[in-house]
This record gives sequence, C-alpha cells and structure tokens, in this order.
Amino acid sequence: MLGAVALAAALSGSAAPRVSVQRRVASMGTTAEVEIVARTREEGLAASEAVVEELRRVEDLLTTWRESPLRRLNEAPANRDVEVGGELAAALREVLAWSERTGRAFDPTVAPLVRAWDLRGAGRIASSDEIAAALAAVGPANFRADASAGTAARLHPSAGIDEGAWGKGYGLDAAARRLAASGVADARIDLGGQELALGTSESGAPWDIDVAHPRDRNRAVLTLALSGLSVSTSGNSERGRTVSGVRIGHELDPRTGRPAADFGSVTVLAASGLVADALSTAFFVLGPDRGLELSEELRRQGVPQEVLFLVGGDTGRLRAAVSPSFSKHVARVDEGAVGGVSAGAASSLSRRESR
Ligand code: AMP
Ligand code: MG
Repeated sequence: MLGAVALAAALSGSAAPRVSVQRRVASMGTTAEVEIVARTREEGLAASEAVVEELRRVEDLLTTWRESPLRRLNEAPANRDVEVGGELAAALREVLAWSERTGRAFDPTVAPLVRAWDLRGAGRIASSDEIAAALAAVGPANFRADASAGTAARLHPSAGIDEGAWGKGYGLDAAARRLAASGVADARIDLGGQELALGTSESGAPWDIDVAHPRDRNRAVLTLALSGLSVSTSGNSERGRTVSGVRIGHELDPRTGRPAADFGSVTVLAASGLVADALSTAFFVLGPDRGLELSEELRRQGVPQEVLFLVGGDTGRLRAAVSPSFSKHVARVDEGAVGGVSAGAASSLSRRESR
C-alpha cells in the first residue's frame, strides 16, 4: 500500500517526494549554508552532515590561520620537502598552474604581499622597498609540489601560499564529490561569495542565487538561475582595510605588488568551484577589459566559464559587462540598479507556474 506521502506524490503527478534539509554552520572562515533536497529527511540530514564534515576536513588541510599541512609548508626551511600528503600536493600543483594560465593575475603565492600590506590585521601602507622585497618571494617558481610523493617545498625563505582566493572553491568541489558518492543530486552550498548549485531546488526549478551590489552585500542587483554550476564573486565590499583614510583593497595584483584597481565586482560561473574561485580573483585583478579577453581566451582553450563584471556603484547605476552566454543564466535584473545585462533564463517563478 502507498504511504501518505507517496500517495500524495502519485496524485500530484510528481515522481518522488522531496524534502529540503537546511543547515548553517561556521566553516572555512565564514557561515556555510547547506541545503539538501532528498527523498527523506534522514537522507537529507546524512548528506548535510557529510558536506559539513568534508568542509571541515578541507579547512583542516588548507587553513593558514592555525596549524595545518599548508601552514607547515609555509613555515618550513627553504628547499626542504615537507610531507603534505598527495591531496594537498595535487591541489598546489593545480593552483600554481592556474597562476600561469591567468598570467599571474591569480597567484596563490601572494602571502608575502598579504603580510606586507597586513591584510590579515588592521592593514598598513607598504613601502616600495617592502613591496620589492615581498615580490622577490612571490610567484609559482618559489614552490615545488610532487603529488605522487605527497611532498611540497618552498624555495625562498619568505615564500608562502595564501588559500584565500581558492580554498572555498576547492572545498565546494570536495563537498560535491561527497554528495555524488552518496547519491544526492540536488543541493546548494553557500560559503558567502562562493556557492555551488547542483540539480534543482525543492520546487524542481534551478536554484535562485543573488548577485549583490559591489558596495552593499545585502542588496541583490540580479538573480541567477543555476543548476550544475559554481558561482564565485570577488570584490572589496567588506574585506578591504582603511589606513589613515586610504582604502586598501584586499585583491592584490601579484605583478605589481599593489592592490588592484577597485572597479566594482566580478562574478564567475564554472562547473568547478576551484576554477570559478581562482578566475573571479584573476578577473578582478585584470579588470573588465583584460578580464573579458582572458575569459574568451580560456573558453577557446576549452575552459568553459562565464563572467559578469559590475562596474561603478559609488553613485548611480552599475554598468554590467558580460561574456557572450552569461545572460542565459540570469533570471531577474533590478533594472534601476544595473544596466547592460538582461534576463535570459526563464525565471524560476514562471517555470514553477507553468508546471
Ligand atoms: P577572493 O575573494 O576569492 O577574490 O580572494 C581574495 C583573497 O585571496 C585575499 O583576501 C587574499 O587573501 C588573497 N589574494 C589577494 N589577491 C590575490 C591574487 N591576486 N591571487 C591569489 N590570491 C589573492
Ligand atoms: Mg577567488
């Protein structure tokens, strides 16, 4: 005999009952919001627990705020191979390769510059000499990593890896693998600026994900409808520092050693969280014109991704600059707040209504 829920599902014509389980936990230096859509509450709870565990495991591997394998590497004597494990060594090889692919606009070896500008503290204005000294220790050539041996070494005594621009994206990919292994297809994970949307939301429509105003993270200027994609936003809204009235952005240009020009924000869509995260940082550093060129170049090289630049915002309307197919993923736009982009995706609401 059919249970009440299954009977209701059969009568309404939908395939299987779906329940949504939501959790909020402190993780990876932010508040992680996890939503799982599953067949039963038990399944949803187990999957959300697996995600939380996986994010914790990745944080323990990558954090440089306390003891971790990555921190051990950053504190090791120059030229000494450190056992970091195969996973971290492979991740390092991957992010160092992304540095090369972005012409070093994204560069995980920026730690000496982050220190020079004291971006993890109150912030300070680094002198030209301090910038030059830091730059000597920045660049992928200051590291080696061997994934099969599970070792890595820094090759300069003050070289360091900063996980800030890619760790959350890596965490999302790891969580996605855990979900796939447990057979959960519909989930959303929000790490504040880095999100992953898999399958569909409880309603059966793609996930609605807001993109914030570059100067006000609580104000949505457009809504994306996403399925099977990660989205990453880079900007300065709350993470810059102000020193003696001078605003220092936290996005550094690893080529000059100075904060990148603050034009607004950039949002990247890609299947991989790591790729979206690394590229949003790279595109911010490059700015809209060079950023759109690199996006195009990467697409030609077989790296699918889409990008939205939101330019301006201190006064008046934002101007959007987008890659060719970005609009396909846009469900709604606040036309009063932003010009230059329109909704190309059927909104989740109209899809719901038409079912
Ligand atoms: P995101 O918010 O993903 O763009 O990452 C920004 C964080 O990554 C900063 O707070 C720094 O810790 C670090 N970072 C800053 N500039 C860069 C860069 N050009 N490449 C890689 N990491 C960076
Ligand atoms: Mg990033």
